Amino acid sequence: MIESRLREDVCRIAKSIFDRGLTHGSTGNISAKLDDGWLLTPTGSSLGDLDPGRLSRLDWNGNLVSGDPPSKESFLHLGMYQQRPKLGAVVHLHSTHSVAVSVLQDVDPADVLPPLTAYYVMRVGTLPLVPYYAPGDRSLAEAVRQYAGRHHAMLLANHGPVVGGTSLSAAADAVEELEATAKLYLLLRHEKVRPLSADAVMALRRKHPSP
Ligand code: ZN
Repeated sequence: MIESRLREDVCRIAKSIFDRGLTHGSTGNISAKLDDGWLLTPTGSSLGDLDPGRLSRLDWNGNLVSGDPPSKESFLHLGMYQQRPKLGAVVHLHSTHSVAVSVLQDVDPADVLPPLTAYYVMRVGTLPLVPYYAPGDRSLAEAVRQYAGRHHAMLLANHGPVVGGTSLSAAADAVEELEATAKLYLLLRHEKVRPLSADAVMALRRKHPSP
């Protein structure tokens, strides 16, 4: 894809995410892969007010090539790309319902949310909980890298989701599906629920493998 078009797409999707309250303040970051590097939203920037010409452009060692200084969470994105060559974009948000689920005590850390809908299974699949590390702790980078070897979506404990997709729109759709499912899960927490059967989940996963 032409770089100028991709830059505009990052800003358009970021604004849409911000305007609908899916992340707040200067939280959240979005990246997209180029032929010879990748773009990332800058540090301290609001997803609601990005300038396509000032996005950070990085190389595959995580070094800034041009643009404003990158998000301090750039390592989340780099680890995903290094482990999953099919990914074209990665979105990380502090979306309220997903963060709420990430602080619950009684979730399964191997797969946090139940398969409530087919779209959740198709776009997210399994969702491991990555243990909590303080902001800037390099151990979080290593943990994300390890989980990324097996998953294109993960939930950082007491923090928020990181989700990759083959394209920017696929990654955005998947993280929004995760947020919607987290909201459903919280709505239904004290109800008797009927999630998809194991057979139905297997059939969907075979047809829609993780990117
Ligand atoms: Zn974050």
